[in-house]
Amino acid sequence: MVGRGHQMPDISDIHLCLSQCRSRKIFFEVAYGLRDQGEKEKLGLIYSRINNPDLEILENRLTLWDEADDCAVFESGMSAITTAFLEFVKPGEVLLFSSPLYGGTDHFITQFMAQIGVIPVEFTPLDIEADIIQKIENTGMGHKLAMVYIETPANPTNTLIDIAMCRRIADHFKGDDRERVILAVDNTYMGPLWQQPLKHGADISLYSATKYIGGHSDVIAGAACGSKTVIKRMKVLRTFLGNMCSPWTGWLLLRSLETLKVRMERQALNAEQVVNFLNGHPNIEKVYYPGLLTPEDGHQYKVFRRQCTSAGAMISFDVKGGEKEAFAFLNSLRLVKLAVSLGSTESLAEHPASMTHAGVEPHHRELMHITEKMVRLSVGVENYEDLIWDLEQALQNL
Ligand SMILES: *Cc1c(COP(=O)(O)O)cnc(C)c1O
Repeated sequence: MVGRGHQMPDISDIHLCLSQCRSRKIFFEVAYGLRDQGEKEKLGLIYSRINNPDLEILENRLTLWDEADDCAVFESGMSAITTAFLEFVKPGEVLLFSSPLYGGTDHFITQFMAQIGVIPVEFTPLDIEADIIQKIENTGMGHKLAMVYIETPANPTNTLIDIAMCRRIADHFKGDDRERVILAVDNTYMGPLWQQPLKHGADISLYSATKYIGGHSDVIAGAACGSKTVIKRMKVLRTFLGNMCSPWTGWLLLRSLETLKVRMERQALNAEQVVNFLNGHPNIEKVYYPGLLTPEDGHQYKVFRRQCTSAGAMISFDVKGGEKEAFAFLNSLRLVKLAVSLGSTESLAEHPASMTHAGVEPHHRELMHITEKMVRLSVGVENYEDLIWDLEQALQNL
């Protein structure tokens, strides 16, 4: 500290002048969560499981759309989601979640979390605020609510869940002496461009970066965006679970971010054209797409206008008939591929009832209108006239 007099040096300068061992000690204190990171302090690059240049750059860039303080990237969407559960919900606590959820998340909550003593409470997009509060109160464990976890729009019906309402529910159950009830939103379907849950009161915006963010169907990755404190806790657990994104995946995602906006905008534009074609086609019974909501749809329309800046690029529709007709349609597609992922450059179609949502309890499937006649479409960046040509020829075969 030569020449600094009695002033306490800025901690970021310390690394330059301290002995190597002393600076490593300081790095580890932060990495292992023993001490808070100083305002200007940089996290040292001590070991790639904790952080590495590819991940740091990716995380910094991913904070931008959500306007988040910080971001943590993971090796899959599931690892981002499960790390949030494991960090913020403990045995004996209540986890409120919206249904239907992504199959992997649903399984983790109802099988794993329930088995370690967490009390899962489920609600559907059809439930209103008072119903949901009643559901939690009925458990007699409202004071133990630790997290509200939602997915909006719900897959595959595109029904929206009001994020601000979920914030109110979380706050309703937060006693004065308790930690904040965490509101986590799986933003894979609309994010990061068209919906920013943090702006509506969420604490964590979660992503399967395998989808839009990756966009090329060549990586599996996940991300969590949120406040400094929330992401710090997830990063410390990530260090010990070892489920951080690999540097190579991080590098590929940096490539993907270069085109994220143009890809998603093109996909949304294509989806709009596809919906214009599908809506009113004689072999189609109903199209599920937020852009078709009108003021007559009441709350759904209001939530859409408040929460989303685009109708997105995920479309579901019921063909006239049942499974036979839906399968005939899917088998006839020539450009659109039959596969379950979403958000990539290529258009994909699938049959939720027998594929992505095969594990959903039949009664729930019925309640949510996930019928045998439903087809889900993820619209890519192709020329929309080609997509419409393909859909038209496949519909003719019904
Ligand atoms: C794909 C997906 C996930 C899981 O992500 P992985 O990257 O496959 O682990 C979670 N939520 C939603 C909405 C998804 O579409």
